[in-house]
Amino acid sequence: MQLSEKVEKFIKEVELFIQYGVQESERQDALTFLHRYKNDALALQLMRTFYSSLPETHEETIARISLIQKKDDIFLLGLSTARHSYLYLATEQKALFLGEYGYEIVEPEALALFGYPDTKEFFEKYPALISCEEYEPVGVTGTMFCPVCSAAVGECHLLGCPVEVCPWCDGQLSRCGCRFEKLGVEVLEDDEELVELERILKEKGRIPYTREQCPSYPSGTDE
Ligand SMILES: [Zn+2]
Ligand SMILES: [Zn+2]
Repeated sequence: MQLSEKVEKFIKEVELFIQYGVQESERQDALTFLHRYKNDALALQLMRTFYSSLPETHEETIARISLIQKKDDIFLLGLSTARHSYLYLATEQKALFLGEYGYEIVEPEALALFGYPDTKEFFEKYPALISCEEYEPVGVTGTMFCPVCSAAVGECHLLGCPVEVCPWCDGQLSRCGCRFEKLGVEVLEDDEELVELERILKEKGRIPYTREQCPSYPSGTDE
């Protein structure tokens, strides 16, 4: 599948959830908000999780995403609608609903990750989402999927994709000499060798696609 098709498909899915989950009068706002974040894998995961499993049947649109804290690739985010606020944990692969803001948190262990031993201490530090900065969409187009083989963030590239990083030398897997060295051959000529390469790569642990591997990251240009 082409990269653009894959992004389109993901966005279409969220649009469909909006169609079914959001009341008609708010639907246009929901779509506008979605398109503001259309290049941001993390926000898209968050929106898909939110709209596909609305915490209750509130049928509301997202009005704001707040960045509370960030630890490596994990974001602690607040999500506000006109009448409710929620707490989420999100990466580019997945978003997890933690609970309604200000109330009991269903997964308090998630807060421990950010240095809060319990829900009470967390809400003492962050009594209101509005005091947190807004989560800004990344301005890089299409980095959610590998621009060559269309692997999603967290997925393995297609074997032979020039973007894949070599797990042995951290170089470019399709250019470095590691594959010949490991197989003990000069050139790769038959399917058997490819199968064997795939096997030893798997054994070593292939490096899945991350946004940073995208050649246009972080100095990418907008479309
Ligand atoms: Zn790739
Ligand atoms: Zn290598």
